[in-house]
Amino acid sequence: MTVPKERIRKLNSKPINEQGKYILYWMQAYRRFDANHSFAYALQLAKSYNKHLLVYEGLRSDYEWSSPRIHQFILEGMIENRKRAEELGINYWAFVETRAQNGKGILRNIAKDAYAIVTDDFPCFIIPEQSKSLADKCDVMLLAVDGNSVIPLSLFERPASAARIMRTWIQKKFPDFLLSFAKPKWNKSDIQGTNGKYAAPFSELKLETNQISSLLMQIQLKETTSPVKGVIGGRSVALRLLKDFLDKKITKYADERSNPKPPVETPVSFLSPYLHFGHIGAEEIVRAVMESVSPKGLDWEQLSFGKAGDRETFYTKDPAANHYLDELITWRDIGYLFFFKNPSFRKDLKDLPDWVKENLKKHKKDHREFLYDRSTWEAAKTHDPLWNAAQTELALTGRMHNYMRMLWGKKVIEWSATYEEAFDTLEYLNNKYAYDGRNPNSYTGILWCFGLFDRPWFPERNVFGNIRYMSSQSTMKKFKMQSYLDYVKSLEGDPESLFS
Ligand SMILES: Cc1cc2nc3c(=O)[nH]c(=O)nc-3n(C[C@H](O)[C@H](O)[C@H](O)COP(=O)(O)OP(=O)(O)OC[C@H]3O[C@@H](n4cnc5c(N)ncnc54)[C@H](O)[C@@H]3O)c2cc1C
Repeated sequence: MTVPKERIRKLNSKPINEQGKYILYWMQAYRRFDANHSFAYALQLAKSYNKHLLVYEGLRSDYEWSSPRIHQFILEGMIENRKRAEELGINYWAFVETRAQNGKGILRNIAKDAYAIVTDDFPCFIIPEQSKSLADKCDVMLLAVDGNSVIPLSLFERPASAARIMRTWIQKKFPDFLLSFAKPKWNKSDIQGTNGKYAAPFSELKLETNQISSLLMQIQLKETTSPVKGVIGGRSVALRLLKDFLDKKITKYADERSNPKPPVETPVSFLSPYLHFGHIGAEEIVRAVMESVSPKGLDWEQLSFGKAGDRETFYTKDPAANHYLDELITWRDIGYLFFFKNPSFRKDLKDLPDWVKENLKKHKKDHREFLYDRSTWEAAKTHDPLWNAAQTELALTGRMHNYMRMLWGKKVIEWSATYEEAFDTLEYLNNKYAYDGRNPNSYTGILWCFGLFDRPWFPERNVFGNIRYMSSQSTMKKFKMQSYLDYVKSLEGDPESLFS
């Protein structure tokens, strides 16, 4: 099976290195071997050019918001990757930057012996810059493979302004890409012939789970945010969560997803951190969901679909599965596309639609009933018990219930001195504490609170104008919040495991 050409783009115009010994796959975002288009493409090149394949997975320490929480999650995934590489016979080098071992220049050094380099085309955070830097500095062709979702992002001409537009675009193309999903599982025989042995020019990471905490002490990280007990990174946990979701929760997804409850009572998949770090891919989730609601089995070559654009009926005959797939595909992809088409986007509000910008301009001087600074937000010490609970959940568990996330964002906008300050606060809290932070959906989630992908709402309100307003009072009226509040209170104790 070959990787669709729409997923591949050159990041430089350098030639292949005829003297190169191997195809180098620089694993940055899709941190797995199975069901990974980038790995598949690197292997395809190695076989076509009769070269070895070398996989490099690195973890630097100096990026914004780096912390024991984030590092531990990634390291747990790296331990599994090493084991999988050994099983399959893949040349895999894992590198972790510590105080004793600086990462500067390592990749460029490895790149010297590469025939060509393949990496992941993840459109956000430090990855585009890292890729560009290598593309400029190395002397060899660097190709990026977009394995972000089911439809290659290059196929969309521009960012979508609303989910209904994105949904139709995606669903029209969906049947064409069903049969080109990345190979779900490799065998040893698939790798054979590509596995030459090379000595790494650094001390390779050969780690066991019980050594992670001592390794973390040797790393200078930006933040001290602690790992959360019971939250474990890596592919096997991702696959277990997926199975658990399909066996026990998906039927309740559409009706109960938005009701703020403790995680054990919330029928969601908890997969966003695993998607973010690439321990699992969207395609394999789509496949598993579609199979799970088709007890008689699926003939993938003969599938029929509903009308493109119809959220309720398109993917399967099961409304709950369709609801889940719509979040996973439409809502997730709209964020990835936003970044893919706005490579320079980071943190200003200029990419918001004109109607939103007009509202912000008109209401920027409105009186704010409450004003909080960053330390008050971070300490969850506002006057609002619901907001404080949401922030406490985030800080202590690395996640926040989806409905609470929307309310949380809206209130920061309402009670900050300026819209820019609100954006900075939300970016900081989300990216520092959330396992799934630093993702395109971190930013489009925050910007959704400012009106992105939404429509004007009436009546016009203080601070928000026509941007959708949410309040803790109406949340309290809409849902029975006590179990959520009790759960957050209980977090101050020492819960065994939060999500199972
Ligand atoms: C202010 C704010 C900040 C957010 N920050 C992030 C973030 O940092 N990282 C992140 O991945 N998502 C973010 N989201 C979107 C959403 O809250 C999470 O994706 C979802 O709650 C993750 O939980 P889950 O994996 O159990 O989702 P499930 O409900 O099980 O959904 C499965 C997958 O679909 C995707 N998805 C579901 N809901 C959304 C949504 N509303 N928008 C985009 N994708 C969605 C996610 O990839 C998710 O893992 C944010 C939303 C808001 C309002």
